[in-house]
Amino acid sequence: MKRIIFDVDYTLLNPNYENELEFFKNYEMTEHFMNNIGKVLGEFENNHLKYNKSELLSYLNQFSSLHLDETFLYNWFNFNIRLQEQDVSDAKELLEYCRKNKIEIVALTNWFTEVQKKKLETVGLLKYFDEVYGGDIFLKPNPESYLHAIGCHKPEECIMVGDTLEVDVSAPSLLGINAIHFTKDDVGHEFTKVKKLTEIKKYL
Ligand SMILES: [Mg+2]
Repeated sequence: MKRIIFDVDYTLLNPNYENELEFFKNYEMTEHFMNNIGKVLGEFENNHLKYNKSELLSYLNQFSSLHLDETFLYNWFNFNIRLQEQDVSDAKELLEYCRKNKIEIVALTNWFTEVQKKKLETVGLLKYFDEVYGGDIFLKPNPESYLHAIGCHKPEECIMVGDTLEVDVSAPSLLGINAIHFTKDDVGHEFTKVKKLTEIKKYL
């Protein structure tokens, strides 16, 4: 393999999305909106080629009947990077192995690049990455996102790893990119799956 493409959240690190209610409480949001923000974002991602701050804000304002502004996003992003202490030793071992074997390392993740970079930096993983491509460049599962992430390589020379079957595994597979599903569950599908990131070494 010439390049490995990693999803970030729930693959390389554990985000703090579960604690976001704490942050949203600072705004006068309805309970319904707060509990459905993941769904609202998912719908935005399914209908857009990329994230854009002002488009996202007007989308959120439609659902929340609030007047959220750039400051809200700024504070939200700062909340996002406050990660819990966590063990990323498996990820480190795999990333070091890739480095040693001259495999290029990039991230392809659907949240904003600046936030995802800071999160990777917080857990000590950013230094391994050649590039981080966030959802403000292209959103998965748009084919453009994967084709951009492979750089100048052929799809079959690249491998993608992630925890979400549709966007990290089946969509890139359709384009000829090798893909591995990282999951602790016993799922029944035809794709390669691993329970530990270090198991990926044997597919490189
Ligand atoms: Mg993920």
